[in-house]
Amino acid sequence: MSVNKAMTLTRGLAPRRAALHVLAQVRAGRPMDAALDGALRGLDEADRRLAHEMAAGVLRRQSALDAQLAPLVTRDWTKVPPRLQDLLRLGAYQIVSLDRVPAHAAVDTSVSLAREEGGPRAGGFVNAVLRRLGSSPGQPDASADPAELADLSADAAALAERHSHPRWLVERWLERFGTGETRRLLEWNDRRPRLVLQAAREGLADLERRWRGAGIATEPAPYGAGIMTDRRRPEELPGFAEGGFLVQDPAQALLAWYADLPPDVTLYDAAAAPGGKTIALGREAGLVVAGDVNRSRVTRLAHNLRRAGSGREHPVVADAHRPPLRPVGAVLLDAPCLGTGTFARHPDARSRVTPEALERLRGLQGELLERVYTVVAPGGLLIYSTCSLEPEENEWQVERFLDRHPGFRREPSETFPPALMSEKGDLTIVPQRHEMDGAFAARLRRA
Ligand code: SAM
Repeated sequence: MSVNKAMTLTRGLAPRRAALHVLAQVRAGRPMDAALDGALRGLDEADRRLAHEMAAGVLRRQSALDAQLAPLVTRDWTKVPPRLQDLLRLGAYQIVSLDRVPAHAAVDTSVSLAREEGGPRAGGFVNAVLRRLGSSPGQPDASADPAELADLSADAAALAERHSHPRWLVERWLERFGTGETRRLLEWNDRRPRLVLQAAREGLADLERRWRGAGIATEPAPYGAGIMTDRRRPEELPGFAEGGFLVQDPAQALLAWYADLPPDVTLYDAAAAPGGKTIALGREAGLVVAGDVNRSRVTRLAHNLRRAGSGREHPVVADAHRPPLRPVGAVLLDAPCLGTGTFARHPDARSRVTPEALERLRGLQGELLERVYTVVAPGGLLIYSTCSLEPEENEWQVERFLDRHPGFRREPSETFPPALMSEKGDLTIVPQRHEMDGAFAARLRRA
């Protein structure tokens, strides 16, 4: 090997090693964002982007990649050690989906990492499998849309496999949205999401001016809900350290508009961490009591509030089963949910959603609603929201609550775009129609 080639190879290992590490942590149950935070530290911007893209790409396309790799492995694919499987997936993802990575670089770096992991035998194995993949022109591209799969569009199993989603969920979506919309939703979830930034301590126009001045291209997010950029690392954008902005999908940011809080109201944000909505609503409210039951998440919430809050938000460790305050003018329950509206941003979440988790969350959401409503003052507002697309976590909860509490009625915001509301006036955003994360919210007024 020439000296130049050896140096290129060594440089190429760091982002791939980081991606492998992220995958190992996600497999062990760590949320992807937390795994990325640790694993990407110390890499330069280009390597961070590559590592992030590879790890997220493998999670999004895992079933399709496995379907390509399994026939190339002479032994049983399911018996290949999990870390080597991820190494092969990373190599395959680069070969089939990343035009900018030459196939030989994908193979060479994968082989070196395999040697680090399991010695020369592991290196030889990975080399043989990836070379077979690179030289088999008949292999479908995991990022393309092969014609033969189009015929199977109504088939939940094929769609679930192709898009690495749980089959039971795809079946539900097919039933509810039909084939065309379900396909668009799955395709949306497989796309790499753009960074969307929202005003915090600075106005959007000022931020945009600063970024343009620094040569950073921007464009408005849908419905004017933020600014989008192709940059990946918010910490490196001017204004971050001063808390000028926060990272938040338009769907989450639109909640503040939909909530339409009266000026200077006191708000109890009952499930507040990490605080995106607290910060958005804190710009309008007089005071926000931001509670969360999870202590370490409250630490993160407090950190985020210090960076970008208005100073009127107060983080507390508190279980929403026992609200820590007397009745106030507005209560937000941004409930723990399956998060099926945010699979594009959180590809690791797909493997965690199960029918049992849906049942458990449905119970918890009902319980929390039954507790937090007690601290809505007469004439006050109760906002219930999730980032789920599943009716049991959304409309169903609201209908059930209204049946039990006739003193509450829906009062949708009058200024909010009707295209983002259901017939009953609930905020209802679905990625395949609105090109942003999915979200749901109901705005209820107490008599
Ligand atoms: N509102 C947050 C934001 O915009 O950044 C996101 C909230 S997240 C969907 C749900 C939160 O509910 C989690 O942080 C979780 O720790 C919290 N949670 C779960 N059970 C809770 C409970 N019994 N009381 C308070 N918070 C709870």
